[in-house]
Amino acid sequence: MKSSESSQFYFNRAADRIGLDGPTRELLLAAKREVRVQVPVEMDDGHLETLIGYRVQHDDARGPMKGGLRFHHEVDLDEVRALAQLMTWKTAVANIPYGGAKGGICVNPRALSMSEMERITRKFIDQIHDIFGPRTDIPAPDMGTNNQVMAWIRNQWEKYHGFDPACVTGKPVEHYGAQGREEATGRGVGLLAVKLLKRLGIEPKATRVVIQGFGNVGSHAAKFLHEAEFKVIAVSDISGAYFRSDGLNITEMLRYSAENGYRLEGYNGADQISNEELLATETDLLIPAAIGGVITNDNVDTIKARMIIEAANGPILPEADDKLHDGGILVLPDILANAGGVTVSYFEWVQNLQHYNWSLDRVRNELDHVLTEAFENVWQTMTEQEVSPRTASYMIGIDRVRVATELAGV
Ligand code: NAD
Repeated sequence: MKSSESSQFYFNRAADRIGLDGPTRELLLAAKREVRVQVPVEMDDGHLETLIGYRVQHDDARGPMKGGLRFHHEVDLDEVRALAQLMTWKTAVANIPYGGAKGGICVNPRALSMSEMERITRKFIDQIHDIFGPRTDIPAPDMGTNNQVMAWIRNQWEKYHGFDPACVTGKPVEHYGAQGREEATGRGVGLLAVKLLKRLGIEPKATRVVIQGFGNVGSHAAKFLHEAEFKVIAVSDISGAYFRSDGLNITEMLRYSAENGYRLEGYNGADQISNEELLATETDLLIPAAIGGVITNDNVDTIKARMIIEAANGPILPEADDKLHDGGILVLPDILANAGGVTVSYFEWVQNLQHYNWSLDRVRNELDHVLTEAFENVWQTMTEQEVSPRTASYMIGIDRVRVATELAGV
């Protein structure tokens, strides 16, 4: 199943529940603008590489469009389109004044030197600088990009448009970035895990956690949960998975990863298992925090978790999602679970527009406030309408976009 089919499936199910008519569905589903550009770059060895970059701007009924920029070898228009749509529902569920967008370049970032990465970024911005900015569409980091890439984006965009750091978020703190942006998505996942357990009357100490992915999101989620006394028993990255039944030493693993180019390869403080085994590990909470489409019809029957929090975008395909729901496994969906990142990006944008810096404590408190509201709204809709947290989240997000669209008039 293509990424866009899967997001459309979830959309239609929720749209049925809120009685959305056909023409409005069509309007809300289609992207406002889809851009595909050629990015020709000279590589370090002198040869010319022609890459393809995308920016899909899905909807701006609730505010400027917002979404990450991904460097990954599987990026294509269909994936970017689906992710842009997800951003629209995500910003609406979090109730922050944004629409949704997404971008990406089809390239393997691990195969690039820093200077190649910089040239690719700047060339891409040369192609798309006139379609984004503080009041239209604000990019941010995603898989394969980081705060350094955001600093290059700002610098390149400002060459055309003048000083305005609000044109991109996820920048380094020394470059008008927000305190707490780097940790925000993983921290948000952790905060939501605590709220979920509280609702279910389960103690963190009695909760085993398995996390797929140890990049920005996975590692910060692991750190937060470890500090909150959850028992993180397995984590993985692209090099493989690491398991210890009595709990991993997350502090040591974070240090090891940072000293080894943000990879766990060679870590010997745990048993090594495969990524397939990791997903099938018996646990209370499973957190896919790497890539999309990892839980499918083929492996869903091996899942032994009681709860899943989707830290990555689209890790569960619809047919697997239904089986999990029927099997009583509670799934907090991506559009709620990983909204911490875009929420702190919103705080960064607000600070940039006001030229005023918030403390880390303020960022963390406001993040907690936004996610608590979002979680409680979803929980209430889920209970009242007797639907899954995913359908409840989509119902809330879609309806907020519908109301804003109708108020503005077509
Ligand atoms: P990242 O590039 O920092 O980390 C990705 C991690 O996944 C790495 O540890 C990598 O080794 C691992 N990985 C990649 N392929 C894998 C595989 N096949 N099996 C196991 N591990 C694998 O990316 P990130 O920023 O942490 O993003 C992770 C996910 O979270 C993505 O789906 C992204 O869209 C989503 N997300 C990120 C943010 C953010 O603020 N960074 C916000 C919202 C959603």
